[in-house]
Amino acid sequence: MSIILVIAEQRRGELRPVSLELLGAAQTLRREGDEVVVAIIAQEPQRFNKLLSVAGVDEIINVVGAMEFAPDSFESVVSGIISERKPELVLVAHSVDSFGYVAALAVHHPMGFASDVFKAEYVAGKLVATRGGYGQKVCVELDFPNRKSVLLAIRANVFKAPDPSSTPRLSIFAMPAVQNRSTAREFIELSAADDVDMTSAEFILTVGRGIGEEARVPEFRKLADLVGATLGCSRPIADAGWLPKSRQVGQSGKTASACKLYLAMGVSGAIQHLAGMKHVSTIVAVNTDAEASIFSVAKYGIVGDLFEIAEELRRHF
Ligand SMILES: Cc1cc2nc3c(=O)[nH]c(=O)nc-3n(C[C@H](O)[C@H](O)[C@H](O)COP(=O)(O)OP(=O)(O)OC[C@H]3O[C@@H](n4cnc5c(N)ncnc54)[C@H](O)[C@@H]3O)c2cc1C
Repeated sequence: MSIILVIAEQRRGELRPVSLELLGAAQTLRREGDEVVVAIIAQEPQRFNKLLSVAGVDEIINVVGAMEFAPDSFESVVSGIISERKPELVLVAHSVDSFGYVAALAVHHPMGFASDVFKAEYVAGKLVATRGGYGQKVCVELDFPNRKSVLLAIRANVFKAPDPSSTPRLSIFAMPAVQNRSTAREFIELSAADDVDMTSAEFILTVGRGIGEEARVPEFRKLADLVGATLGCSRPIADAGWLPKSRQVGQSGKTASACKLYLAMGVSGAIQHLAGMKHVSTIVAVNTDAEASIFSVAKYGIVGDLFEIAEELRRHF
């Protein structure tokens, strides 16, 4: 039997959604006889046990820690759990917290390591993790020869959370005494410039550089409202400040996780944009360039002027 150890993440008493996605990843990577063990480090870790009792979880380890994340404490406690349980695979979130300790952890044990992983599978019995490379221009497949264990930092919004239905064993792991080299001075919540959650939108109308100028944005806001879509954008639109970053779809933006219908207007379909939406079952693309890459993932393609198509849509709604 081998163990898949998942390190759940919480922030200030709220379980981060990626924690459940990690358990989804563990489900897909679980092989016959494997056990999935999830550790939660928090001031009151037992509060999370119910939320973490999802399908496929065999055990929850509670670790009583401090209110704020501290890299030295986390490295020490996760290192202790790894030494005790000897997991073959450790899954953590690719997050600002994990940046602070997991690379060191992988070096100390030593384990195979990959960060920002968006796909992982066993190929001919060997674990292969996929991540972006060269500024996300290519997909890099990594295997881990001669490593008994592997640590993967998994990108958020990629794996599906499992159903909430299990009765795992509960255990406790004592937080080792650690001299933290850093202290949290203040917690500053990022103010939400825009309240939209692209990851939960089911119908997205995305505008790309094809709209030409910022002055055209309001008419697409209205069009999105009219057709019942959430307005999204490609990166140049967010970089130019025409729409908030929270609406950017793609590799360095949001993944259209819940989307069923994606209407891309004036988007070329760069690989970094496709990374956030190519999985959507119905993609409709409007582009004047018949060779645009967006058509390679589109179910329906319209080679034409986006403003004319927008006008047609307005007429029909
Ligand atoms: C590390 C890294 C991360 C990145 N992350 C992201 C990301 O998360 N999301 C993202 O989107 N990009 C990302 N990018 C940028 C990406 O490489 C592309 O530059 C970007 O997606 C292009 O945006 P676009 O399709 O809107 O613009 P363009 O590539 O300029 O395409 C505009 C399209 O509009 C069409 N068009 C023009 N006029 C009209 C018209 N009147 N009617 C119809 N069509 C028209 C053109 O034919 C063209 O295909 C990233 C890049 C890097 C290096």
